[in-house]
Amino acid sequence: MNKVRGILIGRMQPVHNGHMQIIDSILEEVDEIIIGIGSAQLSHSIKNPFTAGERVVMINQALADRGINPSQYYIIPMQDINFNALWVSHVKMLTPPFTKVYSGNNLVKQLFLEEGYEVRQPPLYDRLQLSGTEVRRRMIEGENWQELVPNATVNLIKEINGVERIKNLSLKEISEI
Ligand code: NAD
Repeated sequence: MNKVRGILIGRMQPVHNGHMQIIDSILEEVDEIIIGIGSAQLSHSIKNPFTAGERVVMINQALADRGINPSQYYIIPMQDINFNALWVSHVKMLTPPFTKVYSGNNLVKQLFLEEGYEVRQPPLYDRLQLSGTEVRRRMIEGENWQELVPNATVNLIKEINGVERIKNLSLKEISEI
């Protein structure tokens, strides 16, 4: 029997506990999940501080720490393209075949719906706190960001001096937070 695959695409700047909860709930509905690391070309800005490779490590290690079988997921970096109308084809080119799309992002939902995909919007978990914007804000302000992310994100950010990176970037780009 064919495997049921679902896709979740996010910038994951950085991977936080909301992403992990949504992945848990998607895995209850599909055999395999494709996790697209969106805007893979972006890094070293306040809104997108981490490279695609760094985000791959965060998510890969967080899934391992949760005991999720590696045969159940694919992690695929995806660069943005300038043509929204062609983006779904671009995503299809990069990924194993899938039938279900999970997203809370209106543009992502609209583009996949127009291509005939089954699109589901999973519930948002504590969205005020569990958002990349809030994690990055806490890093810059010296507040407790660690409680919002998996240990794997904490460890990777420590390894790459990520808080120092975002604080340094914020000195120049304070208007872009
Ligand atoms: P994100 O990291 O903000 O969110 C990823 C997913 O996680 C979303 O579906 C969101 O609803 C969910 N999520 C976030 N916080 C949650 C919480 N607290 N509880 C439950 N779920 C939560 O990323 P995003 O901005 O949605 O990423 C979309 C990506 O697709 C971007 O990289 C964007 O550039 C890309 N994109 C590219 C094109 C193009 O290249 N033309 C077009 C559309 C989208």
